[in-house]
Amino acid sequence: MGDHALLGPSGAKRWMSCPPSARLELEFPDPGSKYAAEGTLAHKMAELILRYNNNEISKKAFTGRMNKIREEELYTREMEEEISDYAGQVWELWNSVRKKCPDAQILFEQRLDYSEYAPDGFGTCDVVMIADDTIHVVDLKFGRGVGVTAEENPQLRLYGLGAYLEHSLLYDIRNIAMHIIQPRLESRTSQEITAEELLAWAENTVRPAAATAYAGEGNFQPGDHCRFCRARATCRARAEENLAMTKYEFEDPALLSDEEIGKVLAQADRLAAWVKDLSEYAYHEALAGRKFDGWKLVEGRSNRKYANELQVAQALNKAGYQDTLIYEKKLLGITAMEQMVGKKKFGELLSDLVVKPEGKPVLVPESDKRPELNTAAQAAADFEEEK
Ligand code: SF4
Repeated sequence: MGDHALLGPSGAKRWMSCPPSARLELEFPDPGSKYAAEGTLAHKMAELILRYNNNEISKKAFTGRMNKIREEELYTREMEEEISDYAGQVWELWNSVRKKCPDAQILFEQRLDYSEYAPDGFGTCDVVMIADDTIHVVDLKFGRGVGVTAEENPQLRLYGLGAYLEHSLLYDIRNIAMHIIQPRLESRTSQEITAEELLAWAENTVRPAAATAYAGEGNFQPGDHCRFCRARATCRARAEENLAMTKYEFEDPALLSDEEIGKVLAQADRLAAWVKDLSEYAYHEALAGRKFDGWKLVEGRSNRKYANELQVAQALNKAGYQDTLIYEKKLLGITAMEQMVGKKKFGELLSDLVVKPEGKPVLVPESDKRPELNTAAQAAADFEEEK
C-alpha cells in the first residue's frame, strides 16, 4: 500500500486531475493519522497471513510475529477477523487462478515501477498474481469510510501497469485484472482490461499528465480529489471555487426558487468541507503561535468534572449512599462491543438482538444510488393525480 513517490499510485486521481498539486503538496508535511497507522498495521497482518498461507514462513515465526501485532495499541479482534476474511478472499482468488494455471506465481508487497510513463513513478502493490496471459493485482483498503471501486481506478491501473512492465519480458501478458477488497465494507470489486487498453491509457493519459505534474505545471483543478490533498486548506484554486458560490447572483423575488435552492445545495457540501479544512488548519496554526487578522485564541467553555472518582465514591458511601445509587451500568456501544468480542462471535451471540431502525430521511443529490423515498405528502399528491 505504501508509496512515497511524487507521482505515486495512491494520489494518482489527484495529480492526474490537478497536476500542479503534486509539487504543491511537497510544501506540507505528511500529517499522518490514526487511520493511516491502523491501515499500516492491518496491511502488516495481511502480509504475514498471506506469506504463511504460501508456506514462506514457519508456524513458529508466524505465531511470534502475530503475537507481536496483537500487542500493538491499534490491534483489535475485529481487525484480525476482517484481515482473515480479506486473506481468505485473496486465497480463494489464488486457488481459482492456480486451477487454470498450476505454475502461476504469487507475490506480496511488490514494488512496481512505472517510471517509463511517469517520472520516478513507483508504488507497492499488496498482491500480484501472474498466470500465463493474465496478471492480477489486488489492493486491500482497510478504511470503513468511502467505498472505492476497481472500475477505471487510476491507482489500480498504475499497479497493473507496473506489474505488466515488470513481468511482460518473461510472460506473454494479454490481460490485467484489478481487484479492490474492502473487508470492513464487505465490498470486492474487479475490472479486467486488455494490456493494449492499459498501455493506451498509460501513453495517452498518464504520460502527459505525469510530465505536466512532474514539471509543476498545468492548471489547478479543484474537485472531489481535493479532500486527500495536503494543500486542501490553503489552496487558492479551491478557495476561489468555493467563494465563487457566494457571488451567486440571485433573481429578484424575495424568496429563493426551488431551482435556486437545488443549485445552492449542490455546492453546499463541498463548501462545508472546505470551511472545515480551513478552520482546522487555522486553529492548529494559531496554537503554534500564528496570528490571523481579526482572530484570537481564547479559553473555550469547559464542564465540571470529578477530580478523583474513587474519592467521590468514598465520600458518598460514607454519607450513606450505596454503590447501586451512585454508579450506572452501561453496555458498550455496538462498534466497541464488536471490536471486543470479534465480529464472528458477535454475530453468533447477538445477531437476533441487534436491530437496524429505519434511517431518518436525508436530502442527497439525484446522482445518489439509493432509491428515492416516497414521502406522505408526495404519496397524497400522486393519489390526487391518479384520481
Ligand atoms: S486542493 Fe485541490 S485544487 Fe488545490 S492543489 Fe490540491 S487538488 Fe489541486
